[in-house]
Amino acid sequence: MAGILFIISAPSGSGKSTLVSELRKQVSGVDFSISWTTRLPRGSEENGREYYFTSREEFERMRDAGLFLEYAEVFGKDLYGTARSSLDEARRAGHDLLLDIDVQGAAQVRKSMPEAVSIFVLPPTPRVLRTRLRNRSRAEGVVNDEEVYRRLGEARKEIENYREYVYILVNDILDRAVAQLEAIVLAERFYRNGEPIAYRSSRVLEVAAGCRIENSRERLKPVLEAFGIDGPSGQQQLPFGDDSDDD
Ligand code: ADP
Ligand code: 5GP
Repeated sequence: MAGILFIISAPSGSGKSTLVSELRKQVSGVDFSISWTTRLPRGSEENGREYYFTSREEFERMRDAGLFLEYAEVFGKDLYGTARSSLDEARRAGHDLLLDIDVQGAAQVRKSMPEAVSIFVLPPTPRVLRTRLRNRSRAEGVVNDEEVYRRLGEARKEIENYREYVYILVNDILDRAVAQLEAIVLAERFYRNGEPIAYRSSRVLEVAAGCRIENSRERLKPVLEAFGIDGPSGQQQLPFGDDSDDD
């Protein structure tokens, strides 16, 4: 495609959708690929806005017809897939395309489109992730602790794949994470397409470079350790079962 393909992955509840919607307010020319899924709509979600909601039969029919660029069974439960037509539409419009997909889907896309720019979003701590999952659940009018704990359990497995990504963001302070995501998009446009950056270009390039995985070791260390990854003390640090905080 003429534009840049951005892949963004994160454990559910890290704030990826929030970041993407903020990015799209700030930067034009980035299309968002609306995925197909067999899961039921959540809260105020609408068919054709957050997802195309469909049945498993219809999803499998589309898969068998080769209509998906990638697809995966996420949380061993529901199917999610990116329609190839999303790429075609972005290409026709001359836009960049952003895929919000899980680590399995990201691996498939990297294989077929190695030029894709991949970004992994980390929540700052397991406890913050749990709070965000619960708050979202409450805001949607359902408090589903079982679902929250299932997603927390999946988080560590997803985070283990962080090394496969080019950029890493820690979504702690929202404004900062949005600015970092914006910097990554602008920097990639600058390096790949020679597109000038409107203001503070050296700062933008510096921020983006700081998010590259090879420049993020020190920043990531405490976050990864808290999730029991790359650290000496492993899983015992996970406070998933600790309800002592008042979130
Ligand atoms: P995801 O798309 O990764 O599953 P969401 O964007 O739905 O996650 O965010 C999960 C919850 O966390 C939402 O209630 C959202 O408002 C909140 N949230 C997202 N980013 C932040 C942040 N930086 N600080 C505090 N709350 C956040
Ligand atoms: P949720 O149910 O919270 O909306 O999404 C659950 C997970 O599915 C998230 O990690 C999200 O990135 C992933 N996901 C959403 N759409 C797709 C898709 O089209 N393909 C793949 N592989 N994963 C997706």
